[in-house]
Amino acid sequence: MTENLALSLAQQLIAVNTVNPPGNETDAVRILAPLLQDAGFLIKEYPYGPNRSSLVAHKGRTDQPSVILSGHLDTVPFGSQPWTNQPLEPSIIDGKLFGRGAADMKGGVAVLVATALHYAAKIDEKPLTLVLTSDEEIGCAGAASLIDKKVLPKARCVLVAEPTGNTPRLGHKGVFWLKALFHGKTAHAAFPELGVNALLKAAKAVVALNDGILGGRAHEIMGEATLVTSRFLSGDNYNSVPDLAELGIDVRSTVNWSHDEILHKLKILLAPLEPEIQVIFDLPPLWTPPKADIIQDIFSSCDTVRGKSHSPAIVTFYTDGGVLGPGLGNAPVVILGPGDSGMAHKVDEYVEIDALAESVDIYLNILSRLCL
Ligand SMILES: [Zn+2]
Repeated sequence: MTENLALSLAQQLIAVNTVNPPGNETDAVRILAPLLQDAGFLIKEYPYGPNRSSLVAHKGRTDQPSVILSGHLDTVPFGSQPWTNQPLEPSIIDGKLFGRGAADMKGGVAVLVATALHYAAKIDEKPLTLVLTSDEEIGCAGAASLIDKKVLPKARCVLVAEPTGNTPRLGHKGVFWLKALFHGKTAHAAFPELGVNALLKAAKAVVALNDGILGGRAHEIMGEATLVTSRFLSGDNYNSVPDLAELGIDVRSTVNWSHDEILHKLKILLAPLEPEIQVIFDLPPLWTPPKADIIQDIFSSCDTVRGKSHSPAIVTFYTDGGVLGPGLGNAPVVILGPGDSGMAHKVDEYVEIDALAESVDIYLNILSRLCL
């Protein structure tokens, strides 16, 4: 019954176009808000732009920390390749539900709403809050705006139903993009001794940065932080000494490094080359230690429903949990949802119907432990 509702909601959500940009997430909110309101949830809609909004639905006491169920309503565009079936026409073939957002993450949102509705009448002392955001796909900006507005309750935990193959995941690496500009002095290439070659400085920086400078601090689950020198631009023509070179750097960090510390290390290492370093993008890593009781409960639910034990692990993609967890007093975050993360953003995206049903069973188990 709850499984059927989840499937039906997933189909209805896929049929509304919430490709971001422009988003139009309010069309999805129109489907979900009345159902939650009828079940006794307190509904608040937060406008985000033309026909864009995030939905917050709360049930139970307001003076107790809440279990937060997190999902996003937008999807990525359809891609340039043709789909076998239309991306906005949900179709079931061989036990799979196809359509844009089936895995990322209208399937997950449907599971969260269906399971919240299942227990709505019983939830009171231990509150539950659904946070369904706009504009996740472009930097989690919808979730960030809810944190800025301070409209969310205190959190016991945040459960994000992004596709993880129904395995619980405890975080993700941080993303830190830096731009380093190297300055020199131009001259005719026939007289290089009259110039200072900015490209040569940048090349020395590339060599220095690729010397394993973030090694030796492996996190037991997240592994090592990584650094890639990813962009390299210089030179306007063949016959001049270049006076400017740009180097792009991508760092994937763990909680064993702060981004300030990484920036400081790079500045010291590259100081002889006198670069100008700019931060282009800065999302910190997310990690929830597995020992907390509430995390043990969530893992037990997964173990019970799936009939096997699960070990702590992380995902390779960023989620609203990276904004909501730290923004809500470092609440523990678990990423747990139906579908294969490899499906996200692909043509012919799908979620298996059995995976949706299994996810419903997992969330019912979790909510019965945490909210009843
Ligand atoms: Zn997603």
